[in-house]
Amino acid sequence: MTAASGHRGPPPTLFDGYAFDLDGTVYLGDVPLPGASETIGRIRHAGRAVVFVTNNPLHSAEDYASKLRSFGVEATTNDVVTATHALVAYLTAACPRDRLLVLGETFLLETLSAAGFALTTEPAGADVVVVSFDRTFDYGKLLAAYRALRLHGARLVATNPDPYCPTPDGGLPDCAAMLAAVQACSGVMAEAVVGKPSTHMAAAVLDRLGVPATGAAMVGDRLSTDMVMARSAGMAGVLVLTGATSPSDLAAAEASVLPDYVIQTLPQLLVGAPIQHNAATARERRKLERA
Ligand SMILES: [Mg+2]
Repeated sequence: MTAASGHRGPPPTLFDGYAFDLDGTVYLGDVPLPGASETIGRIRHAGRAVVFVTNNPLHSAEDYASKLRSFGVEATTNDVVTATHALVAYLTAACPRDRLLVLGETFLLETLSAAGFALTTEPAGADVVVVSFDRTFDYGKLLAAYRALRLHGARLVATNPDPYCPTPDGGLPDCAAMLAAVQACSGVMAEAVVGKPSTHMAAAVLDRLGVPATGAAMVGDRLSTDMVMARSAGMAGVLVLTGATSPSDLAAAEASVLPDYVIQTLPQLLVGAPIQHNAATARERRKLERA
């Protein structure tokens, strides 16, 4: 795809399934983005599958579903896929009986423990170091990770590759910052970063959507995660310019990360793909009014 063909405006048709990124796409911090709930409601009303996808490993799927409902967006726990889901799936397949030294917050520790993993804070006792978005990250945690990797041969896995998490006041350093510190001192590179844009996350999203990749759209605000995952999974990538990506970022982006479609705000998702069901209803109403 050339750079020019990556700037195509809204998609011309409805997709069978939509995966919506959350931060920067449906809301920004605690503020819903304009028109998001109406747009998602219209897509659901048209019978299309919808899931929500976030690389943020700080909260549970129920927390996100509850937050979405508070904004008027219909959502159940089962509609939300997080990097934590992809992490549990990866560790369960790759190292189900290993002991984990986790640089993460309480929710992640509790989730891994509930999934049956033994956790440790002792570098000598760790088989795998898990690095995540951790607002309690400090020198002690970095030292423990360094020793587990450098001195005791542990493996390294991370939740998500985001450098920062967008918030209304300018963002928070995210997992990539903690991971860079761990990799820099230990010399060990992560064997997997399981959130978007990884194949682990794409598989979890498509499984939850229940439609083939060719009929699905990934709608998100970040080129390096949302759009790269769409491209590698064979989904349509729809970039919305309400979060991490500015028009100048898009203009400067390499062809390999360009989206298939670009919209300014979420309601533009339906500009080129009017929902026939609603149009028919409106026509019938006008006919009744004339009668
Ligand atoms: Mg985002």
